[in-house]
Amino acid sequence: MIAQALSPISTSSRAADSAISLLDDIGNTPLLDLTDFAHSCGAQDNVQLFAKAEWANPGGSVKARAAFKIVEEAEADGRLGAGQILIDSSSGNTAIAYALVGAVRGFPVHLVMPKNVSRERKALVKAYGATLIESDPLEGSDGAIRMVRQIVAADPERYFYADQYNNDANWRAHYEGTGPEIWQQTQGRVSHFVAGLGTTGTFVGAGRFLREQSASAQLVAVQPEDELSVIEGLKYLPTAITPGIYAPSLVDRHMTVSAETAWDVTQALAREAGLFVGFSSGAAVAAAVQVAKELPLNSESVVVTLLPDDGSKYVSLGLFD
Ligand code: PMP
Repeated sequence: MIAQALSPISTSSRAADSAISLLDDIGNTPLLDLTDFAHSCGAQDNVQLFAKAEWANPGGSVKARAAFKIVEEAEADGRLGAGQILIDSSSGNTAIAYALVGAVRGFPVHLVMPKNVSRERKALVKAYGATLIESDPLEGSDGAIRMVRQIVAADPERYFYADQYNNDANWRAHYEGTGPEIWQQTQGRVSHFVAGLGTTGTFVGAGRFLREQSASAQLVAVQPEDELSVIEGLKYLPTAITPGIYAPSLVDRHMTVSAETAWDVTQALAREAGLFVGFSSGAAVAAAVQVAKELPLNSESVVVTLLPDDGSKYVSLGLFD
């Protein structure tokens, strides 16, 4: 109905040649300068800190990159065929990104999410027209993975199981996008790359690219402090199902951040730098600042991290009240 009503306009001569598809707007996010913030936290004098503003992606998070790449590759080689449903598990941001891509491309999307993910995440998925299937909150994201595997096993022809944890398109999105962008935006001066581990796609893909450009680039992987520290989007790998795409040999240094520190830094970013971001951004910046503090005096290092999403999906958690 809506498409019909609009068709007289879209079939007339193109009014705006520079207009792009929403999906073409994925990636090329701004690199923000957080050097003053790092110095106010005690970073060494000549160290610079930068962060990619990933909420600038359609759908509001870093996961647009992986979701779109997964869909593109699956459409190209026929794994996502006509009439099939894309299904996957996600704690939220990938779900939102799949739902958005499905809305643009016109295929149905089913998402398994733990029942306790924030209200905003569930609402966004539904707003884009996807079907939400809730898994046991006590089993977390691993419970969602187990549930999606059962659903697919019961009717494999019906679904394209996107499987972000084991799909190489996930890390390739960052190898072809995030990594080269960081390299270009720092004119090849990035010395440390700090990223949180969820599916590990961001760390593995961007890290692999940066390591290939510079053998001395230090790749720092960030996890919550322990199993009980909940930082949405990040996994505590020692007790989680290890993602198949994870490449532990890329890690030069592991760092852990407590939920409390992630929250403190998230709050400080809003109040002192005007950046209203999610908790995994707070965790990433906490680790990046720690790296910047420990560097030798007058080091000319350039530390780069990512701000995976903004704070709007976390408001109902009440922590900003
Ligand atoms: N932060 C947030 C808010 C996320 O949603 C995710 C994705 N799970 C990550 C960090 C980690 O990204 P990746 O899956 O690429 O490791």
